[in-house]
Amino acid sequence: MTLQLHDTLRGAKIPFEPLDGGEVTMYLCGPTVYNYAHIGNARPAVVFDLLARLLRRRYKLTFARNITDVDDKIIAASRESGEPIGDITARYARIYNEDMAALGVQPPDVEPYATEHIDVMIAMIEKLIAKGHAYEAEGHVLFDVESYDAYGELSKRDLREMVAGSRVEVAPYKKAARDFVLWKPSTDEQPGWDSPWGRGRPGWHIECSAMAEKHLGKTIDIHAGGQDLVFPHHENECAQSRCAHGGAPFARYWLHNGFLSVDETKMSKSLGNVLLVHDLIETIPGEVVRLALLNAHYRQPLDWSAEAIQAARRMLDRLYGAVRGIDVPDEVRAAAEVPEAIVAALEDDINTPKAMAEFFALARALNKANDPGEMEALAARMYAAGDLMGLLTNDPEAWFAGHVEGNASRDEIEALVAKRDGARANKDWAAADAYRDRLKDMGITIEDGPDGTTWRRS
Ligand code: AMP
Ligand code: ZN
Repeated sequence: MTLQLHDTLRGAKIPFEPLDGGEVTMYLCGPTVYNYAHIGNARPAVVFDLLARLLRRRYKLTFARNITDVDDKIIAASRESGEPIGDITARYARIYNEDMAALGVQPPDVEPYATEHIDVMIAMIEKLIAKGHAYEAEGHVLFDVESYDAYGELSKRDLREMVAGSRVEVAPYKKAARDFVLWKPSTDEQPGWDSPWGRGRPGWHIECSAMAEKHLGKTIDIHAGGQDLVFPHHENECAQSRCAHGGAPFARYWLHNGFLSVDETKMSKSLGNVLLVHDLIETIPGEVVRLALLNAHYRQPLDWSAEAIQAARRMLDRLYGAVRGIDVPDEVRAAAEVPEAIVAALEDDINTPKAMAEFFALARALNKANDPGEMEALAARMYAAGDLMGLLTNDPEAWFAGHVEGNASRDEIEALVAKRDGARANKDWAAADAYRDRLKDMGITIEDGPDGTTWRRS
Protein backbone atom coordinates (compact mmCIF):
# COMPACT_ATOMS: atom_id res chain seq x y z
CA MET A 1 0.00 0.00 0.00
CA THR A 2 1.21 3.50 -0.69
CA LEU A 3 0.07 6.61 1.07
CA GLN A 4 -3.07 8.09 -0.49
CA LEU A 5 -4.10 11.68 0.21
CA HIS A 6 -7.07 13.73 -0.85
CA ASP A 7 -5.88 16.79 -2.77
CA THR A 8 -8.23 19.79 -2.82
CA LEU A 9 -6.82 21.08 -6.13
CA ARG A 10 -7.51 17.86 -8.04
CA GLY A 11 -10.60 17.10 -5.95
CA ALA A 12 -9.63 13.45 -5.55
CA LYS A 13 -7.77 10.97 -3.40
CA ILE A 14 -4.48 10.16 -5.11
CA PRO A 15 -1.25 8.29 -4.37
CA PHE A 16 1.31 10.49 -2.65
CA GLU A 17 4.56 10.94 -4.54
CA PRO A 18 7.01 13.42 -3.07
CA LEU A 19 8.95 15.72 -5.36
CA ASP A 20 12.25 14.51 -4.03
CA GLY A 21 12.17 10.74 -3.37
CA GLY A 22 12.89 10.32 0.29
CA GLU A 23 12.42 13.90 1.46
CA VAL A 24 9.08 15.52 2.11
CA THR A 25 8.15 19.11 2.88
CA MET A 26 4.92 20.14 4.60
CA TYR A 27 3.59 23.58 5.56
CA LEU A 28 0.66 24.18 7.91
CA CYS A 29 -0.76 27.67 8.42
CA GLY A 30 -0.24 28.37 12.09
CA PRO A 31 -1.98 30.57 14.62
CA THR A 32 -2.35 34.33 14.71
CA VAL A 33 -1.16 34.92 18.25
CA TYR A 34 -3.37 37.39 20.09
CA ASN A 35 -5.63 35.07 22.09
CA TYR A 36 -6.07 31.46 23.18
CA ALA A 37 -6.59 28.69 20.61
CA HIS A 38 -10.10 27.24 20.54
CA ILE A 39 -10.92 23.59 20.02
CA GLY A 40 -11.56 24.21 16.27
CA ASN A 41 -8.04 25.62 15.91
CA ALA A 42 -6.72 22.45 17.56
CA ARG A 43 -8.23 20.22 14.88
CA PRO A 44 -5.71 21.01 12.10
CA ALA A 45 -2.85 20.99 14.63
CA VAL A 46 -3.76 17.47 15.84
CA VAL A 47 -4.75 15.99 12.47
CA PHE A 48 -1.63 17.19 10.67
CA ASP A 49 0.54 16.20 13.63
CA LEU A 50 -0.71 12.67 13.00
CA LEU A 51 0.10 13.02 9.30
CA ALA A 52 3.60 14.26 10.21
CA ARG A 53 4.12 11.21 12.45
CA LEU A 54 2.94 8.95 9.63
CA LEU A 55 5.21 10.62 7.05
CA ARG A 56 8.22 10.31 9.36
CA ARG A 57 7.89 6.50 9.20
CA ARG A 58 8.80 6.53 5.51
CA TYR A 59 10.45 9.85 4.73
CA LYS A 60 12.74 12.54 6.01
CA LEU A 61 10.15 15.21 6.75
CA THR A 62 10.61 18.94 7.12
CA PHE A 63 7.42 20.28 8.67
CA ALA A 64 6.92 24.04 9.02
CA ARG A 65 4.11 25.64 11.00
CA ASN A 66 4.32 29.42 11.17
CA ILE A 67 3.43 31.97 13.80
CA THR A 68 1.58 35.02 12.49
CA ASP A 69 2.77 37.77 14.82
CA VAL A 70 1.87 40.82 12.73
CA ASP A 71 -1.81 41.27 11.95
CA ASP A 72 -4.53 43.90 12.32
CA LYS A 73 -6.28 41.80 14.99
CA ILE A 74 -3.09 41.82 17.07
CA ILE A 75 -2.77 45.58 16.64
CA ALA A 76 -6.39 45.99 17.76
CA ALA A 77 -5.84 43.75 20.81
CA SER A 78 -2.82 45.81 21.83
CA ARG A 79 -4.70 49.07 21.41
CA GLU A 80 -7.52 47.75 23.57
CA SER A 81 -5.40 46.42 26.43
CA GLY A 82 -2.45 48.82 26.21
CA GLU A 83 -0.04 45.87 26.32
CA PRO A 84 2.89 46.04 23.86
CA ILE A 85 2.41 43.88 20.75
CA GLY A 86 5.61 41.89 21.34
CA ASP A 87 4.44 40.89 24.82
CA ILE A 88 1.05 39.74 23.52
CA THR A 89 2.47 37.68 20.66
CA ALA A 90 5.25 36.10 22.76
CA ARG A 91 2.77 35.07 25.45
CA TYR A 92 0.15 33.58 23.13
CA ALA A 93 2.74 31.79 20.98
CA ARG A 94 4.09 30.14 24.14
CA ILE A 95 0.59 29.24 25.39
CA TYR A 96 -0.34 27.86 21.95
CA ASN A 97 2.63 25.53 22.00
CA GLU A 98 1.96 24.43 25.58
CA ASP A 99 -1.71 23.76 24.85
CA MET A 100 -0.91 21.81 21.69
CA ALA A 101 1.77 19.82 23.55
CA ALA A 102 -0.92 18.81 26.06
CA LEU A 103 -2.80 17.31 23.10
CA GLY A 104 0.27 15.31 22.07
CA VAL A 105 1.15 17.62 19.16
CA GLN A 106 4.87 17.33 18.50
CA PRO A 107 6.77 20.55 17.72
CA PRO A 108 7.21 21.22 14.00
CA ASP A 109 10.75 21.15 12.56
CA VAL A 110 10.56 24.85 11.73
CA GLU A 111 8.41 27.49 13.40
CA PRO A 112 8.95 30.68 11.41
CA TYR A 113 7.73 33.99 12.84
CA ALA A 114 6.34 36.44 10.29
CA THR A 115 8.13 39.44 11.79
CA GLU A 116 11.49 37.70 11.30
CA HIS A 117 10.86 37.27 7.56
CA ILE A 118 9.93 40.77 6.41
CA ASP A 119 12.97 40.90 4.08
CA VAL A 120 11.92 37.76 2.19
CA MET A 121 8.37 39.09 1.89
CA ILE A 122 9.64 42.38 0.46
CA ALA A 123 11.85 40.48 -2.02
CA MET A 124 8.89 38.39 -3.18
CA ILE A 125 6.69 41.45 -3.60
CA GLU A 126 9.42 43.17 -5.64
CA LYS A 127 9.60 40.11 -7.88
CA LEU A 128 5.81 40.15 -8.37
CA ILE A 129 5.91 43.84 -9.35
CA ALA A 130 8.81 43.25 -11.77
CA LYS A 131 6.90 40.41 -13.45
CA GLY A 132 3.76 42.50 -13.88
CA HIS A 133 1.65 40.63 -11.29
CA ALA A 134 1.47 43.39 -8.69
CA TYR A 135 1.22 47.17 -8.62
CA GLU A 136 1.85 49.97 -6.16
CA ALA A 137 -0.90 52.42 -5.28
CA GLU A 138 -0.88 55.00 -2.48
CA GLY A 139 1.67 53.18 -0.33
CA HIS A 140 -0.09 49.84 -0.86
CA VAL A 141 1.05 47.02 -3.09
CA LEU A 142 -1.73 44.91 -4.57
CA PHE A 143 -1.75 41.62 -6.39
CA ASP A 144 -3.26 42.05 -9.84
CA VAL A 145 -5.67 39.13 -10.05
CA GLU A 146 -6.41 39.82 -13.70
CA SER A 147 -2.75 39.07 -14.52
CA TYR A 148 -3.04 35.43 -13.44
CA ASP A 149 -5.29 33.25 -15.57
CA ALA A 150 -5.41 30.31 -13.21
CA TYR A 151 -6.74 32.37 -10.29
CA GLY A 152 -9.62 30.46 -8.71
CA GLU A 153 -8.19 27.02 -9.58
CA LEU A 154 -7.92 25.84 -5.97
CA SER A 155 -11.26 27.06 -4.66
CA LYS A 156 -12.96 26.37 -8.01
CA ARG A 157 -14.30 29.88 -8.17
CA ASP A 158 -15.21 31.74 -11.26
CA LEU A 159 -13.77 35.25 -11.32
CA ARG A 160 -17.00 36.77 -12.68
CA GLU A 161 -19.01 35.15 -9.92
CA MET A 162 -16.58 36.46 -7.35
CA VAL A 163 -16.93 40.04 -8.44
CA ALA A 164 -20.70 39.80 -8.44
CA GLY A 165 -20.93 38.24 -4.99
CA SER A 166 -17.85 39.89 -3.62
CA ARG A 167 -17.56 41.20 -0.11
CA VAL A 168 -13.94 42.29 -0.52
CA GLU A 169 -13.02 45.80 0.36
CA VAL A 170 -13.53 48.26 -2.47
CA ALA A 171 -10.83 50.90 -2.22
CA PRO A 172 -10.19 53.74 -4.64
CA TYR A 173 -6.57 52.75 -5.16
CA LYS A 174 -7.44 49.20 -6.33
CA LYS A 175 -7.63 48.44 -10.06
CA ALA A 176 -10.22 45.76 -9.30
CA ALA A 177 -12.11 44.97 -6.10
CA ARG A 178 -10.76 41.40 -5.97
CA ASP A 179 -7.09 42.53 -5.99
CA PHE A 180 -5.62 41.74 -2.60
CA VAL A 181 -3.04 43.44 -0.42
CA LEU A 182 0.60 42.37 -0.41
CA TRP A 183 1.84 45.39 1.51
CA LYS A 184 0.11 48.25 3.29
CA PRO A 185 1.24 51.48 4.93
CA SER A 186 1.57 51.75 8.72
CA THR A 187 0.94 54.83 10.82
CA ASP A 188 3.57 55.81 13.37
CA GLU A 189 1.75 53.89 16.12
CA GLN A 190 1.37 50.73 14.04
CA PRO A 191 4.22 48.21 13.62
CA GLY A 192 6.03 48.89 10.37
CA TRP A 193 9.19 48.21 8.39
CA ASP A 194 10.97 50.30 5.79
CA SER A 195 10.30 49.16 2.25
CA PRO A 196 10.58 50.50 -1.32
CA TRP A 197 6.93 51.60 -0.86
CA GLY A 198 7.46 53.44 2.40
CA ARG A 199 7.06 52.30 6.00
CA GLY A 200 4.47 49.54 6.20
CA ARG A 201 3.66 45.92 6.92
CA PRO A 202 2.84 42.78 4.91
CA GLY A 203 -0.58 41.34 4.15
CA TRP A 204 -1.37 37.96 5.69
CA HIS A 205 -1.21 35.84 2.50
CA ILE A 206 2.29 36.92 1.45
CA GLU A 207 3.61 35.93 4.87
CA CYS A 208 2.97 32.23 4.26
CA SER A 209 4.18 32.28 0.63
CA ALA A 210 7.48 33.87 1.65
CA MET A 211 8.07 31.69 4.72
CA ALA A 212 7.23 28.50 2.79
CA GLU A 213 9.74 29.40 0.07
CA LYS A 214 12.45 30.33 2.54
CA HIS A 215 12.22 27.16 4.62
CA LEU A 216 10.85 24.54 2.23
CA GLY A 217 11.61 25.72 -1.31
CA LYS A 218 9.59 26.94 -4.29
CA THR A 219 7.50 23.80 -4.65
CA ILE A 220 6.39 22.09 -1.46
CA ASP A 221 4.88 18.64 -1.17
CA ILE A 222 1.99 19.25 1.21
CA HIS A 223 0.19 22.43 2.19
CA ALA A 224 -2.42 22.02 4.91
CA GLY A 225 -4.97 23.97 6.89
CA GLY A 226 -8.65 24.23 7.76
CA GLN A 227 -11.32 24.28 5.06
CA ASP A 228 -12.05 27.98 5.63
CA LEU A 229 -8.53 28.79 4.43
CA VAL A 230 -9.10 27.47 0.89
CA PHE A 231 -10.48 30.85 -0.10
CA PRO A 232 -9.10 33.43 -0.04
CA HIS A 233 -5.96 32.57 1.95
CA HIS A 234 -4.69 29.52 0.06
CA GLU A 235 -5.96 30.69 -3.31
CA ASN A 236 -3.95 33.88 -2.82
CA GLU A 237 -0.86 32.11 -1.48
CA CYS A 238 -0.95 29.87 -4.54
CA ALA A 239 -1.34 32.78 -6.97
CA GLN A 240 1.53 34.76 -5.40
CA SER A 241 3.94 31.85 -5.21
CA ARG A 242 3.27 30.56 -8.73
CA CYS A 243 3.56 34.02 -10.25
CA ALA A 244 6.79 34.72 -8.36
CA HIS A 245 8.23 31.37 -9.45
CA GLY A 246 7.52 31.43 -13.18
CA GLY A 247 4.44 29.21 -12.86
CA ALA A 248 6.12 26.38 -10.92
CA PRO A 249 3.60 24.40 -8.82
CA PHE A 250 3.34 25.74 -5.28
CA ALA A 251 1.99 22.75 -3.38
CA ARG A 252 1.76 19.25 -4.85
CA TYR A 253 -0.99 18.23 -2.41
CA TRP A 254 -3.46 20.55 -0.68
CA LEU A 255 -5.07 19.09 2.44
CA HIS A 256 -7.98 20.67 4.30
CA ASN A 257 -9.72 19.58 7.48
CA GLY A 258 -13.47 19.91 7.98
CA PHE A 259 -15.03 22.26 10.46
CA LEU A 260 -15.76 21.63 14.11
CA SER A 261 -19.04 22.74 15.66
CA VAL A 262 -20.07 22.70 19.32
CA ASP A 263 -23.37 21.03 20.19
CA GLU A 264 -24.31 21.34 16.53
CA THR A 265 -23.78 25.11 16.61
CA LYS A 266 -21.06 27.15 14.96
CA MET A 267 -18.68 28.49 17.59
CA SER A 268 -18.94 32.24 17.90
CA LYS A 269 -18.04 34.90 20.40
CA SER A 270 -21.53 36.38 20.27
CA LEU A 271 -23.08 33.02 21.25
CA GLY A 272 -20.51 32.60 24.01
CA ASN A 273 -19.84 28.98 22.98
CA VAL A 274 -16.15 29.29 22.09
CA LEU A 275 -14.33 26.46 23.87
CA LEU A 276 -10.68 27.17 24.55
CA VAL A 277 -8.19 24.32 24.62
CA HIS A 278 -6.56 26.00 27.60
CA ASP A 279 -9.77 25.60 29.63
CA LEU A 280 -10.70 22.14 28.36
CA ILE A 281 -7.41 20.59 29.39
CA GLU A 282 -7.91 21.75 32.95
CA THR A 283 -10.59 19.13 33.44
CA ILE A 284 -10.15 16.69 30.55
CA PRO A 285 -6.92 14.73 29.93
CA GLY A 286 -5.19 15.91 26.74
CA GLU A 287 -5.33 12.41 25.30
CA VAL A 288 -9.13 12.39 25.58
CA VAL A 289 -9.29 15.71 23.72
CA ARG A 290 -6.88 14.39 21.08
CA LEU A 291 -8.87 11.21 20.50
CA ALA A 292 -12.17 13.12 20.40
CA LEU A 293 -10.63 15.21 17.59
CA LEU A 294 -9.37 12.13 15.74
CA ASN A 295 -12.55 10.07 16.09
CA ALA A 296 -14.09 11.59 12.96
CA HIS A 297 -12.39 11.45 9.59
CA TYR A 298 -10.48 14.72 9.20
CA ARG A 299 -12.35 15.87 6.10
CA GLN A 300 -15.76 15.38 7.72
CA PRO A 301 -17.46 17.89 9.98
CA LEU A 302 -16.99 17.12 13.67
CA ASP A 303 -19.41 18.00 16.41
CA TRP A 304 -17.91 18.61 19.84
CA SER A 305 -20.21 17.56 22.70
CA ALA A 306 -20.21 15.98 26.14
CA GLU A 307 -21.04 12.66 24.43
CA ALA A 308 -18.06 12.95 22.05
CA ILE A 309 -15.74 13.53 25.02
CA GLN A 310 -17.23 10.64 26.96
CA ALA A 311 -16.96 8.32 23.97
CA ALA A 312 -13.25 9.16 23.61
CA ARG A 313 -12.72 8.61 27.32
CA ARG A 314 -14.40 5.19 27.21
CA MET A 315 -12.33 4.20 24.19
CA LEU A 316 -9.14 5.09 26.03
CA ASP A 317 -10.37 3.16 29.08
CA ARG A 318 -10.68 0.09 26.86
CA LEU A 319 -7.18 0.55 25.42
CA TYR A 320 -5.59 1.18 28.81
CA GLY A 321 -7.64 -1.71 30.26
CA ALA A 322 -6.11 -4.10 27.73
CA VAL A 323 -2.48 -3.21 28.53
CA ARG A 324 -3.01 -2.78 32.28
CA GLY A 325 -0.91 -5.08 34.43
CA ILE A 326 1.30 -6.28 31.58
CA ASP A 327 4.93 -5.47 32.08
CA VAL A 328 6.53 -5.07 28.67
CA PRO A 329 10.35 -5.27 28.73
CA ASP A 330 12.02 -2.30 27.03
CA GLU A 331 13.63 -4.42 24.31
CA VAL A 332 10.29 -6.06 23.42
CA ARG A 333 8.69 -2.64 23.23
CA ALA A 334 11.47 -1.19 21.10
CA ALA A 335 11.26 -4.05 18.62
CA ALA A 336 7.45 -3.99 18.23
CA GLU A 337 5.90 -2.95 14.93
CA VAL A 338 2.68 -1.03 14.48
CA PRO A 339 0.12 -3.51 13.09
CA GLU A 340 -0.03 -3.28 9.31
CA ALA A 341 -3.82 -2.82 9.36
CA ILE A 342 -3.48 0.36 11.44
CA VAL A 343 -0.78 1.77 9.17
CA ALA A 344 -2.84 0.86 6.09
CA ALA A 345 -5.91 2.65 7.51
CA LEU A 346 -3.92 5.79 8.27
CA GLU A 347 -2.19 5.68 4.90
CA ASP A 348 -5.64 5.67 3.30
CA ASP A 349 -6.12 9.44 3.56
CA ILE A 350 -5.70 9.39 7.36
CA ASN A 351 -8.70 7.13 7.99
CA THR A 352 -8.67 7.46 11.78
CA PRO A 353 -12.07 5.78 12.41
CA LYS A 354 -10.78 2.66 10.60
CA ALA A 355 -7.44 2.87 12.41
CA MET A 356 -9.25 2.97 15.77
CA ALA A 357 -11.38 -0.05 14.81
CA GLU A 358 -8.13 -1.93 14.10
CA PHE A 359 -6.67 -0.69 17.39
CA PHE A 360 -9.65 -2.26 19.19
CA ALA A 361 -9.22 -5.51 17.26
CA LEU A 362 -5.70 -5.63 18.69
CA ALA A 363 -7.00 -4.86 22.19
CA ARG A 364 -9.54 -7.71 21.89
CA ALA A 365 -6.81 -10.12 20.81
CA LEU A 366 -4.78 -9.08 23.84
CA ASN A 367 -7.76 -9.48 26.18
CA LYS A 368 -8.21 -13.07 24.93
CA ALA A 369 -4.54 -14.05 25.08
CA ASN A 370 -3.27 -16.24 27.96
CA ASP A 371 0.31 -16.98 27.05
CA PRO A 372 2.59 -14.45 28.83
CA GLY A 373 4.95 -14.14 25.82
CA GLU A 374 2.05 -13.50 23.45
CA MET A 375 0.54 -10.99 25.86
CA GLU A 376 3.81 -9.09 26.07
CA ALA A 377 4.16 -9.03 22.28
CA LEU A 378 0.57 -7.84 21.76
CA ALA A 379 0.86 -5.18 24.47
CA ALA A 380 4.10 -3.98 22.83
CA ARG A 381 2.23 -3.63 19.53
CA MET A 382 -0.48 -1.64 21.29
CA TYR A 383 2.17 0.77 22.57
CA ALA A 384 3.75 0.99 19.11
CA ALA A 385 0.35 1.92 17.65
CA GLY A 386 -0.11 4.39 20.49
CA ASP A 387 3.26 6.01 19.72
CA LEU A 388 2.19 6.51 16.12
CA MET A 389 -1.20 7.98 17.02
CA GLY A 390 -0.12 9.95 20.08
CA LEU A 391 -2.21 7.77 22.42
CA LEU A 392 -1.44 5.43 25.37
CA THR A 393 1.29 7.77 26.58
CA ASN A 394 0.27 7.49 30.26
CA ASP A 395 0.91 4.74 32.74
CA PRO A 396 -2.25 2.53 32.80
CA GLU A 397 -2.41 2.47 36.61
CA ALA A 398 -2.17 6.26 36.78
CA TRP A 399 -4.87 6.45 34.10
CA PHE A 400 -7.35 4.42 36.12
CA ALA A 401 -6.41 6.07 39.40
CA GLY A 402 -7.33 9.41 37.80
CA HIS A 403 -3.79 10.68 38.32
CA VAL A 404 -3.36 11.82 34.75
CA GLU A 405 -2.85 15.50 34.14
CA GLY A 406 -6.15 17.16 33.32
CA ASN A 407 -8.20 14.89 35.52
CA ALA A 408 -10.01 16.91 38.13
CA SER A 409 -9.19 16.33 41.78
CA ARG A 410 -11.77 15.09 44.30
CA ASP A 411 -11.99 18.61 45.78
CA GLU A 412 -12.71 20.21 42.40
CA ILE A 413 -15.40 17.63 41.65
CA GLU A 414 -17.05 18.02 45.05
CA ALA A 415 -17.06 21.80 44.72
CA LEU A 416 -18.94 21.50 41.41
CA VAL A 417 -21.39 18.96 42.86
CA ALA A 418 -22.07 21.36 45.75
CA LYS A 419 -22.64 24.24 43.31
CA ARG A 420 -25.12 22.11 41.40
CA ASP A 421 -26.91 21.22 44.67
CA GLY A 422 -27.11 24.94 45.45
CA ALA A 423 -28.56 25.71 42.01
CA ARG A 424 -31.16 22.96 42.47
CA ALA A 425 -32.10 24.31 45.87
CA ASN A 426 -32.72 27.68 44.20
CA LYS A 427 -34.69 25.97 41.43
CA ASP A 428 -32.19 27.36 38.91
CA TRP A 429 -32.49 24.32 36.64
CA ALA A 430 -30.47 25.83 33.77
CA ALA A 431 -27.47 26.39 36.05
CA ALA A 432 -27.90 22.93 37.60
CA ASP A 433 -27.89 21.34 34.13
CA ALA A 434 -24.83 23.35 33.14
CA TYR A 435 -22.94 21.98 36.19
CA ARG A 436 -24.11 18.44 35.37
CA ASP A 437 -22.83 18.84 31.78
CA ARG A 438 -19.53 20.21 33.00
CA LEU A 439 -19.12 17.22 35.31
CA LYS A 440 -20.07 14.90 32.45
CA ASP A 441 -17.33 16.44 30.29
CA MET A 442 -14.91 15.64 33.10
CA GLY A 443 -16.03 12.00 33.05
CA ILE A 444 -18.08 12.30 36.21
CA THR A 445 -21.56 10.81 36.51
CA ILE A 446 -23.83 12.07 39.25
CA GLU A 447 -26.82 10.34 40.75
CA ASP A 448 -29.50 11.96 42.85
CA GLY A 449 -30.83 9.66 45.56
CA PRO A 450 -32.92 10.02 48.70
CA ASP A 451 -29.72 10.68 50.70
CA GLY A 452 -28.40 13.39 48.39
CA THR A 453 -26.14 13.41 45.36
CA THR A 454 -23.40 10.88 44.80
CA TRP A 455 -20.81 10.89 42.05
CA ARG A 456 -18.45 8.46 40.36
CA ARG A 457 -15.88 8.55 37.60
CA SER A 458 -17.61 6.99 34.59
P1 AMP B 1 -7.18 31.07 12.44
O1 AMP B 1 -6.39 31.45 13.65
O2 AMP B 1 -8.59 31.55 12.44
O3 AMP B 1 -6.45 31.38 11.16
O4 AMP B 1 -7.32 29.50 12.48
C1 AMP B 1 -6.22 28.63 12.65
C2 AMP B 1 -6.54 27.29 12.03
O5 AMP B 1 -7.72 26.72 12.64
C3 AMP B 1 -6.86 27.38 10.55
O6 AMP B 1 -6.27 26.24 9.90
C4 AMP B 1 -8.37 27.30 10.50
O7 AMP B 1 -8.82 26.79 9.28
C5 AMP B 1 -8.66 26.35 11.64
N1 AMP B 1 -10.01 26.49 12.20
C6 AMP B 1 -10.57 27.62 12.70
N2 AMP B 1 -11.82 27.38 13.17
C7 AMP B 1 -12.06 26.05 12.97
C8 AMP B 1 -13.17 25.18 13.25
N3 AMP B 1 -14.28 25.61 13.86
N4 AMP B 1 -13.05 23.88 12.90
C9 AMP B 1 -11.93 23.41 12.31
N5 AMP B 1 -10.85 24.17 12.02
C10 AMP B 1 -10.90 25.48 12.34
ZN1 ZN C 1 -1.04 30.40 5.32
